Amino acid sequence: MSLNIVLDNSIILDLLSRSINDTQHCFNRIRKVNIRFWIPSCLLSLLETQINLAHHVPLSQLLNNEDVQLLSSLAANWSLLPTRHRNRLQGLISLDAALLPGKTIIWTNQEHFETAEERVEWGDHEFLYGVLAESEYTDTVQLNNLVDQQLNIRTELEYGLFNNLRHGQYILGTEVFELEKQLARFIGVKHCISVGSGTDALLLSLLAADVSALDEVITSPFNFIAAAQMIAFIGAKPVFVDIDPETYNLDVNLLEAAITPQTRAIIPANLYGQCADYDSINAIAQTYRLMVIEDATQSFGARYKNRWSGSLTQMSCTGFTPSKPLGAYGDAGACFTNDDLLADKLRRLRVHGQKERYHHELIGINSRLDTIQANVLLAKLKIFPKEITARMEVGNRYTESLQNKVKTPVIQSYNQSCYSQYTIEVDERDLVRDKLAKRGIPTAVNYPLPLHLQPALSYLIQDKGSLPIAEAASKRVLSLPMDAYLTPEMQQEIIDAVKNAVK
Ligand SMILES: *Cc1c(COP(=O)(O)O)cnc(C)c1O
Repeated sequence: MSLNIVLDNSIILDLLSRSINDTQHCFNRIRKVNIRFWIPSCLLSLLETQINLAHHVPLSQLLNNEDVQLLSSLAANWSLLPTRHRNRLQGLISLDAALLPGKTIIWTNQEHFETAEERVEWGDHEFLYGVLAESEYTDTVQLNNLVDQQLNIRTELEYGLFNNLRHGQYILGTEVFELEKQLARFIGVKHCISVGSGTDALLLSLLAADVSALDEVITSPFNFIAAAQMIAFIGAKPVFVDIDPETYNLDVNLLEAAITPQTRAIIPANLYGQCADYDSINAIAQTYRLMVIEDATQSFGARYKNRWSGSLTQMSCTGFTPSKPLGAYGDAGACFTNDDLLADKLRRLRVHGQKERYHHELIGINSRLDTIQANVLLAKLKIFPKEITARMEVGNRYTESLQNKVKTPVIQSYNQSCYSQYTIEVDERDLVRDKLAKRGIPTAVNYPLPLHLQPALSYLIQDKGSLPIAEAASKRVLSLPMDAYLTPEMQQEIIDAVKNAVK
């Protein structure tokens, strides 16, 4: 996690006049740990006056440093400041600083400081170096660290959210359509239809494909339940086909045998961020005139034969819950298609089947992506390509270090995984998991029970033993911490812990 260092005016003036000789040292040393510097915006006019008086280097020079950001001042903080607080400006800075996630220190040279907020500490030069030198200043490892990402795009996020409050179009605001345009362009598909969640995207796709009660839809038993559940939700029958033990995706060789006259569609999953074999799946689907709906929730950002996930079939779905590769700050999702008719239908289905207000031509639902979430996603989409590269690097580092110890993910030569999860296989998985937890390494099991064995789907009579590969995998898989901001140092800690735990 990040360490935030908020610079107070005394420090900023020192840095600008370069009277602190080891400034460079300071910036470099801390770059190793995830450190971010913040200049309180409530100080800016004061600083400019002081700088002009002292003929120092301009403030813009310091702000040009990519590790330095402006800290917003929240109007509410002024009223929250206790009147007895001795230094109003310092009080305000501490309240503004306390809104940053992660550990936060306000760096100062001034003698008298007082914090109005327990979550932040004030510290001088010596104190700061003490914190940085502390050998036990180790970050806690998280399964999926969203804090560093947020701090990177804080300015953008704040602007989007406040601008949304200004214009007040909370449903289907302009940002929603801007996001749809950008998402469609990003993966190279004509239409993006944003919806309320990944699950809704699957439901609406099934409705758009005219799948109805008693139809059969083939899908993977080793996946998050959403696809299978939405198939069942509309009264159709999920038919599970076992997975390939290498990729954990639908075993294409078993696909044809599962097709019956009732089969209408196939929903392949792209587990852990790696796409299924779509050329083969699409070819079989074409022969039997079936619709293929790609569940691209875990693979958004991944590529198959140099094409982006989400663009590989007639219609695709993705979800943007916070933990997904591209995540909002709440529920959100999208459907993609190149087909104008399907796009039009999806757009109607998400607003109660209406095109014209209060004229309902289809049975639909209410499922729209909030404008606020669109703003969050627009900010995140800007850094998404860089994050995918970083995720791939983290994945490769894991594989290099662990491949001789445990079964590491097998990525097909035509695939580029976005590693929504980095999932290994181990013997005695639960024991290994406990050992890692004791060392402060969080892990996840995706997924402990295949879908055909879930009580909600037990009526399907695909008994235990019928899908042996999925059942075996569910007992052995273990997902390690994975995000674009995992430092090599922290990753090494995880790797060492895993090697130790499987000894
Ligand atoms: C998370 C997930 C979903 C569901 O998405 P939501 O946005 O949470 O509704 C669907 N499919 C897969 C593969 C997922 O991982």
